Amino acid sequence: MGDDIDAAKADLLIVGAGTAGLPAAIEAARHGLRVTVVEQADQVGGTLWRSWAQLSAGGTALQRERGIHDSPDLHFDDVMRISKNTADPELVRLAVDHAPETVDWLMSAGFDMDPAAPAILYFHEPYTLPRTYWGTRGGNSVLEVLIPRFERVCAEGSVTLLLNTTVTALRADGPNRVAGVTVFGPDGVRADLDADHVLLTSGGYSGNAELFPQLTGGAPLVGPGAPTSTGTGLLAALDLGATTRGGDLFLPTYGGVLLPDSPSRTVPLDDYPQLTPQSRLPWEIHVNERGERFVAEDTDSVDVRERALLDQPGLRFWVVYDDAVRQKAPALFPSWAEEDLSEAFATHPSFATADTIEELGELAGVDPAGLTRSVEEYNAAVASGVDQLGREHLPLPIERAPYYAVRNHGSTLKSPAGLVVDKDLRVVGGSGPVENLYAAGEVLGGSTLSGKSFVSGMSVTPALSFGRLIGRRAAGSA
Ligand SMILES: Cc1cc2nc3c(=O)[nH]c(=O)nc-3n(C[C@H](O)[C@H](O)[C@H](O)COP(=O)(O)OP(=O)(O)OC[C@H]3O[C@@H](n4cnc5c(N)ncnc54)[C@H](O)[C@@H]3O)c2cc1C
Repeated sequence: MGDDIDAAKADLLIVGAGTAGLPAAIEAARHGLRVTVVEQADQVGGTLWRSWAQLSAGGTALQRERGIHDSPDLHFDDVMRISKNTADPELVRLAVDHAPETVDWLMSAGFDMDPAAPAILYFHEPYTLPRTYWGTRGGNSVLEVLIPRFERVCAEGSVTLLLNTTVTALRADGPNRVAGVTVFGPDGVRADLDADHVLLTSGGYSGNAELFPQLTGGAPLVGPGAPTSTGTGLLAALDLGATTRGGDLFLPTYGGVLLPDSPSRTVPLDDYPQLTPQSRLPWEIHVNERGERFVAEDTDSVDVRERALLDQPGLRFWVVYDDAVRQKAPALFPSWAEEDLSEAFATHPSFATADTIEELGELAGVDPAGLTRSVEEYNAAVASGVDQLGREHLPLPIERAPYYAVRNHGSTLKSPAGLVVDKDLRVVGGSGPVENLYAAGEVLGGSTLSGKSFVSGMSVTPALSFGRLIGRRAAGSA
């Protein structure tokens, strides 16, 4: 037993102090439990520090105030429609039933809701009703509610927080129980911590480029995920006999530019190019490495664009345009200053510029002959008003040097695979549910509640809701 680690037995031990772990600890402590929270990082918050944290719920007080007639049932129908029935109906039901109470709770706690919310947003396939909510500062707005409440229960002595401490194993206590966890703390101190209940809220694995393809049918990791999304909590459960599902439901987010020095990490999501036609109609063409266009760039459905990208080599595409478009179109990179963009075209490996289309193809890594053909065909479509792929927004031909190409990758905002759990969110091991081991948040798999699609708000809201629910349930059975 390590000298530096508080090893008193907990009623509830929580692995990971992020989106799901913080509300679980707050709720369990409010219900009288003695809680230990183990967090590998040197701060709490997890993915919320970088997440947009858009939430979704049908039947909230805010919707009623705005005269929006919505309900968990309508939310459920929309999730199953958008996911083409690939989401888990039982857990979606649990999530949508608890979502309004979660959003109402945030509001009652002073959440700084953006005045434009709730709304229908188009970064993902849209809901049929205004049902997406977000704080003015994204995930930070959620943290502004969670952290003071978490600090309070720590100060009151009901929660012990162990920072810089990683859970490396779950300790079995017979076939269907756990006795606690093994941790490594600061300076490599190892300890076995005992608990009546263990909750895995260790997040996804979208910060682990090695593990990602192993759990996701070989798909490469490219994205802005948190480095703390290591997947180690999930691996600990697998060692105990748990199984994963959903790795075959990978779908890339449409677009994302790598950091100049990384093969897998992208620029922050806020710095992605604006490729959502409902926000900015495309003035560019999108081509694969053969130089071929593969989708009508202005199609309303992001799902259609994402699925088309899934078939492109390396999940890569290039956004190609010319000087006239650069001068006349609304900004392709709204958050970038003009000098940053010029600097990128001079130095960034994903950005290329040239005086001819052939040279652009060579510099960018796109087949020059294919690119030339696509530009010619597109220019003919602009002239005739009829595009082979059905694109309707045809503002300008691509014909005025210099020409530009920006390499994009299908990217990952959440890891698809996750632990199999039962309807009570207990992890299912080799011989059935482990009676005192629960999981919530992205460790359940990003595809569990969205299927092979992206459904607005269906990661952060259920992480908060399920965390709170398990905190209460653990108290109920303690
Ligand atoms: C850029 C971006 C934007 C997003 N936008 C949205 C959005 O708008 N809406 C939405 O619904 N979803 C969104 N998501 C996804 C969503 O934010 C996440 O799925 C969710 O926040 C994950 O919550 P979590 O509690 O499961 O994990 P996290 O919040 O990541 O917390 C997990 C915690 O566990 C700790 N941990 C991990 N392993 C261990 C271990 N072995 N021992 C101890 N501690 C450990 C980690 O350090 C971390 O603090 C976005 C994701 C990204 C990256």
